[in-house]
Amino acid sequence: MTDPRRAVPRTDAVLADPRLVQAQHRLGRPRVKRAVTAALQEVRAGATAPDEAADRALGLLPATASSLRRIINATGVVLHTNLGRAPLSPAAVAALQAASGYVDVEYDLEDGSRARRGRGTLAALGRAVPDAEAVLIVNNGAAALVLATTALAAGRDVVISRGEMVEIGDGFRLPDLIQSTGARLREVGTTNRVTLADYAAALGPQTGCVLKVHPSNFRIEGFTSAVPTRQLAGLPAPLVVDVGSGLLAPDPQLPDEPDAATALRDGAALVTCSGDKLLGGPQAGLVLGRTDLVERLRRFPLARALRVDKLTLAALEATLDGPVPPASAYRGADPDELHARCAALANTVSATLGGICAEVVASDGAVGGGGAPGLVLPGWAVALPAAFAAALRAGDPPVVARVERDRCLLDLRCVDAADDHVVADAVLAAAGR
Ligand SMILES: *Cc1c(COP(=O)(O)O)cnc(C)c1O
Repeated sequence: MTDPRRAVPRTDAVLADPRLVQAQHRLGRPRVKRAVTAALQEVRAGATAPDEAADRALGLLPATASSLRRIINATGVVLHTNLGRAPLSPAAVAALQAASGYVDVEYDLEDGSRARRGRGTLAALGRAVPDAEAVLIVNNGAAALVLATTALAAGRDVVISRGEMVEIGDGFRLPDLIQSTGARLREVGTTNRVTLADYAAALGPQTGCVLKVHPSNFRIEGFTSAVPTRQLAGLPAPLVVDVGSGLLAPDPQLPDEPDAATALRDGAALVTCSGDKLLGGPQAGLVLGRTDLVERLRRFPLARALRVDKLTLAALEATLDGPVPPASAYRGADPDELHARCAALANTVSATLGGICAEVVASDGAVGGGGAPGLVLPGWAVALPAAFAAALRAGDPPVVARVERDRCLLDLRCVDAADDHVVADAVLAAAGR
C-alpha cells in the first residue's frame, strides 16, 4: 500500500477548483485558504481521501464571511442576551441592507450640505413617544445612562437609592459604570426602603441629578418602599429615569414594566432605555426628554464616542415605524397555537424515531434579557432525552434548547412557524449523532 500522505494535493491545486474559486469571490481568499489547509491536514492524517480535499474544504466553509452563525432559539427565552437579544424584523433587515452602501445619513440631498445625522430615525422615535420634547440615540442602554449622568453630574453627585445599585450582567454594575466617567454616587435609603425625605436630605449644590433605575432583572418582595417618579420629579434637581427595557408606552401584558411615556408624563427630565430589549430592535440606547438636557447631552464630548452607525439607525427606524417586531410576536404567542405546533413536532419525531420518547409538556417561556423577571409566558415544549441538547447544538443550523430536570425541552415560542420543519429535521439529524 502507498503512503496516503504522498498523494496529498498541493494547496494551490485545490484552491483552483472552480467551486473554491467562486467561494473566494464570496468569502475572501484567506478564509477559503484556511478551509483548504484544514482539509489537507485531514488528508495527511488519513481522515479524508486526497481526491475529496476540495469537497471537504467546501464543507468547512461558513455560510457568510462572518463567523457568527444563525441559530434556532428553542429556549423559549425571547430576549436571550447570549443569543443576540431581539431578532430583527424583515423590515429592519431590509432597511439595514439598503443602508449598507453610501446613504444620506448625514447629508441633505436638496442643497448638498451636511444634515442632522439619523434625522429620520430621530423623527420616528419622536412620533413613537410624543411626550418626549427631544430624543437622542446612542450605542446601547448603558451608553445612554453613562452619557446622561456624565453630562449632568461629572464631578458632582448622582443621587440614587441603595436598592437600585444593580448589576446588569457579566459582572457589570451600574454604579461602577456611572462613577467610571467622574460622577460621584450619593446613595440614599436602604436596600429595601427609601423615602422622599432620604432623597431630599441628600440634595445640595453638589447635586448633578437624581437617578431612578428600574431593577429590571430581579424583584424585591416584602417590607419595601420606593419613591414613585411623580414624587421624585418634584425635587429641585433633574430626574433621570432608566427604564431599561425600552417599552415606549404602557403594555397591558407587562403591568410591572415601566415605560418611557409614563415616566416622562410623571415628570422625568430624561428617560434612558435599550433598543434591543422589549422594543425589539437593534442594539441601541435611547434618551428621551427635555430639549435643553437632550441638547446638552448631544453636545457633550463623550456623545461622539457613543454614536450609532447607519446600520443601527436604519434598523431602529424600521422597528419603530414598521410591522410588529418578532420579539413582540413571540412574547404574545398564543399558547394553543404553540401546543398544536409542539404536538406536530412530537408526532413527526415519534413517528420517525420509533424508540424515542417525545412528549408535549407544559413549559413557561420568559421575556429574558433582564426584563420582566417575574413574568411567566405560558406555553408548551417538546421534551426529549437530555442528550439531545448537545447533539442539537452540534447541528447545522444549531438548535439551542433548554435542559430542565434531565430533559431537553424544545420550546417553539421563538421559532418562526415556517421553521418548524427545520427543527424537526434537526432532531432527526441529532438522533443519528
Ligand atoms: C439592560 C439594562 C441596562 C443596559 O442596557 P444595554 O442596552 O444592555 O446596554 C441598563 N439599565 C437597565 C435598568 C437595564 O435593564
